[in-house]
Amino acid sequence: MNPDVLHELALLRDLGFTHLDLTVPPRISVPETAAAPEVADGVSEWDALVAAAHNCNACRLAGTRKTVVFGTGNPNADLMFIGEAPGRDEDEQGEPFVGKAGQLLTDIIKAMKLTRDDVYIANVIKCRPPENRNPEPDELDECRPFIQRQVALIQPKVIVALGRFGLQSLTQRAYSITTVRGQWLDYNGIKLMPTFHPSYLLRTPAAKKDVWNDMKKVMAELGI
Ligand code: URA
Repeated sequence: MNPDVLHELALLRDLGFTHLDLTVPPRISVPETAAAPEVADGVSEWDALVAAAHNCNACRLAGTRKTVVFGTGNPNADLMFIGEAPGRDEDEQGEPFVGKAGQLLTDIIKAMKLTRDDVYIANVIKCRPPENRNPEPDELDECRPFIQRQVALIQPKVIVALGRFGLQSLTQRAYSITTVRGQWLDYNGIKLMPTFHPSYLLRTPAAKKDVWNDMKKVMAELGI
């Protein structure tokens, strides 16, 4: 069998699947209206935000980054995934979640019958912390306006917060991810589902079932 197919099947088994539904699912509806309003000089607010992120020097991470990793996917998406910070692969490629943890996130998105282009993926920190250390509180504070504006412009129906930093920085609350995981929270009127970070799942594969249970709630909410 094709190794990619075998890989997909192994992931689905790890996520707790016991059978496959091979019917073609309806796509998440994408609103026609653009999320980013035009501003006076003809540049959309979204494009202005992208440019501001790429020129940002607000914290020390600007001095060590290779690329600003703004986000990827559909800026009109109903579903948004928010992680922590770029790692080495993301810093090289300028795209979030493209390393090992990213492959697992991509597989989870596929298991939800979606693609990376159907959703929007971003981090609360746009530049790689050296040696993948945890982000510092002042770095999170400086970067927070970017994720806040991204969410405000995208207006997703559901946000999935991946891990402690994504959850805590977005909400500015000291939630414990193990305590609130799988429970709906509210972020400015948007349904927010906290779940484990894919890097944690790479270290703790037994937790994949928990994440899949959380994603089933997200799918039910979105009618997938
Ligand atoms: N971990 C994250 O939180 N974000 C990425 O983009 C990659 C790994």
